[in-house]
Amino acid sequence: MTTIKQERVAVYPGSFDPVTYGHLDIIRRSARQYDRLIVAVLNNTSKNPLFSVEERKEMLAEVTQDIPNVEIDSFRDLLVRFMKSRQANVIIRGIRSVTDFEYELQLASTNHLLDDEIDTVFMMTNPKYSYLSSSIVKEIARFNGEVRELVPHSVEQRMKAKYKDPI
Ligand code: ADP
Repeated sequence: MTTIKQERVAVYPGSFDPVTYGHLDIIRRSARQYDRLIVAVLNNTSKNPLFSVEERKEMLAEVTQDIPNVEIDSFRDLLVRFMKSRQANVIIRGIRSVTDFEYELQLASTNHLLDDEIDTVFMMTNPKYSYLSSSIVKEIARFNGEVRELVPHSVEQRMKAKYKDPI
């Protein structure tokens, strides 16, 4: 009897506006655990992002080009439906704090309610990045502060270009 091994496909969804070293650390660590990892940018029209979905995808593609089993995509549908279309059944989320956990637990329970074949796997932040968020990075860059330790070089350059003309 031949058994066909099912590919283990996980999705790491988020805004990634822009991708930080905190996200990248979660991407690297979870890519090691699955056959394929799809990093999926949420196309959320109700938020007011700094970067377009295309720009966010480009930055993610640039900073993950050395990880062969990572793909970049975007979605605007329900996450569980997007996952079905990609034959994925694991959601990766990062946890930085108790506050993150409360929100993430609610999100995970809702997704489980919508589709009980989908599991959420939480990855604890690398303590080095436990304070790091895209909003903090944007706040620093907006006032021309140093973000070299927080985001990859290509992201830093793109942020500088966005904030070149003072608001
Ligand atoms: P969202 O707007 O969906 O929270 P983000 O792009 O801010 O999207 O974050 C995506 C995921 O990455 C979330 O699970 C978030 O908790 C996690 N994350 C963000 N920053 C970090 C970090 N510094 N360390 C670990 N996880 C993080």
